[in-house]
Amino acid sequence: MRVFRCDDCGHKMKFFGKSCGKCHLEKRSLQRGSTWVMILLAVVVVVGIAARLRFFQG
Ligand SMILES: [Zn+2]
Repeated sequence: MRVFRCDDCGHKMKFFGKSCGKCHLEKRSLQRGSTWVMILLAVVVVVGIAARLRFFQG
């Protein structure tokens, strides 16, 4: 899965991995798969907490 383009050379980078496969420029944080995994986990946790709060408040 290649969704991000390198800022420097325009190479389509893999979703995971922390640098461009062609020029080895370090990716920005938003271009890293791990960042999105973290964001997704945070959303799941927040939604879980919100659902619990609603449950307890009736
Ligand atoms: Zn590059």
